[in-house]
Amino acid sequence: MTNPDAVVIGGGLIGLCAAAAMASRGLRVTILASSRPGEASPAAAGMLAPSVERATGPAHDFAVAARDRYPAFLATVEERTGIRVPLNRLGILQVALSERGVRGLQKGALPTTKWLDSGELQQLEPALHNALGAAWSPDDGAVDNVVLLRGLEALADSDPLITRLYESAASVAPRPGPGVVVSTAAGARIDAGHAVLAAGCWSSAVGGSGLAAAVSPARGQLVSYPAQPLRHVVYGPRGYVVPRGDVTIGGSTMENAGFDASTTSEGIARVRSAAEEICPPLFDAAPVKAWAGLRPVTPDMLPLLGPDPANAALIYACGHSRNGVLMAPLTGDVVADLVTGSPLSYDLSQFRPARF
Ligand SMILES: Cc1cc2nc3c(=O)[nH]c(=O)nc-3n(C[C@H](O)[C@H](O)[C@H](O)COP(=O)(O)OP(=O)(O)OC[C@H]3O[C@@H](n4cnc5c(N)ncnc54)[C@H](O)[C@@H]3O)c2cc1C
Repeated sequence: MTNPDAVVIGGGLIGLCAAAAMASRGLRVTILASSRPGEASPAAAGMLAPSVERATGPAHDFAVAARDRYPAFLATVEERTGIRVPLNRLGILQVALSERGVRGLQKGALPTTKWLDSGELQQLEPALHNALGAAWSPDDGAVDNVVLLRGLEALADSDPLITRLYESAASVAPRPGPGVVVSTAAGARIDAGHAVLAAGCWSSAVGGSGLAAAVSPARGQLVSYPAQPLRHVVYGPRGYVVPRGDVTIGGSTMENAGFDASTTSEGIARVRSAAEEICPPLFDAAPVKAWAGLRPVTPDMLPLLGPDPANAALIYACGHSRNGVLMAPLTGDVVADLVTGSPLSYDLSQFRPARF
């Protein structure tokens, strides 16, 4: 195998988007992808919710730009693979179920948010008859992250510049002169110009990537109901519901359970209660499926995105916490900019890998 320009460690949404973006700039990329229970990308709810899962400063601007990157990005995926990834841009509703909730939502509203009273809300979504009103963020929405993952895998497999190896990376080390050596768990060594660390909540286990110690797993449990009472993504005070095809997803817990990606009866009961409080018709639809995933979280819930100050050929792209689906395509663009030395279009100061 000739040496690639870059090795991507991790084949989730972040790794695949980074690989696709680098290949689109003419770079030869090897992805090291080994699977583990609890991978976040297939487990996620797929919301594109920068107005709700809100950051401050340039991180918020980045999240908004990431959301707005989606239509063109999915058009490219479809053009390259024939896979059409469902995108819901009807906006996200945050419902108030009490007068206190009304006051809280109205006080925290962004200029882009519109308040809907209960009559307007019922017209839009009759199934939300419990709610006193809702804040509507018209440009947010959701993507089907499971189909997206399939589309990106197909794109990687059809791109002659991308090689996917089903192997685990053990370590990354600087090599004499520019570049890195990535060692695999099976003992192979790959020399490359750059390594991109996108191993989700397992990133800190890759030797030579000390700053990834800031990334840890946070378990989220979800259910899906065999019913479609809603068209919009809806947040309530204790959870959210997301329409996806012919099912509705309810989520989610946020737990410190280490790397244990199993569901618990207590967690699922909490998720169901939060979803059914938002959308009472779900109460009558027994969940068909329950699962859990491990979010790669950092102490400030923002990603590590940028080069290692001690090894500029190692790029961190991990720790996207609750917004990794949202940020994946734009993260890929940024990784490609960093690796090719192109000017950056975004202020990444809040994502500095060495900030902890
Ligand atoms: C329950 C839940 C709900 C979520 N909902 C949303 C949402 O609505 N919107 C949103 O934007 N985000 C959401 N997220 C967050 C989002 O899913 C993550 O931030 C994102 O998927 C992270 O992608 P990733 O590629 O970094 O990690 P992952 O998808 O976990 O992928 C990492 C990959 O790296 C592999 N790997 C690990 N170590 C190695 C190694 N040494 N060598 C090779 N490969 C390795 C793993 O096996 C895995 O395949 C949710 C997450 C969860 C769990």
